[in-house]
Amino acid sequence: MTINAFWEQKSLKQMTRSEWESLCDGCGKCCLHKLQDEDTDEVYHTAVACQLLDLRSGGCSDYANRFAKVDDCLQLDADNLDTFQWLPPSCAYRRLSEGKGLPSWHPLLNDGKKHKMHAAGMSVRHKAVSEGFDLDPADFIVIWPLDEVE
Ligand code: SF4
Repeated sequence: MTINAFWEQKSLKQMTRSEWESLCDGCGKCCLHKLQDEDTDEVYHTAVACQLLDLRSGGCSDYANRFAKVDDCLQLDADNLDTFQWLPPSCAYRRLSEGKGLPSWHPLLNDGKKHKMHAAGMSVRHKAVSEGFDLDPADFIVIWPLDEVE
């Protein structure tokens, strides 16, 4: 099958909406709560996930209505990407903005399937807990969202 590698031919700003959306691997790591040190601005990732995150698939369970349901859900686009420095290094948007390619496990390089991403440990599957359990994210600081596998 021939792959239309649009991400190698277009800048993030040139992509259509559907091309932009397809870059998201569905890892779910951006939907984890993060904590920021008030003194140093350092960002810490936690394993506590947004109430809407499906912990099995890594996808949002109500993507169309996420802004209405979650007050601090943020819209990522090509114009504000540089304000999202906390995106995990595996994130396709971050990687392309840094001049890197897609990793070999990315769904776009694997017939849209996520199994290689999960096998590489690049998603939240089996690693995150829902904020619905009323947990303190400070007790769940983790470093695995920062892992990177090519
Ligand atoms: S971290 Fe990036 S690739 Fe992963 S779900 Fe979020 S936007 Fe998509």
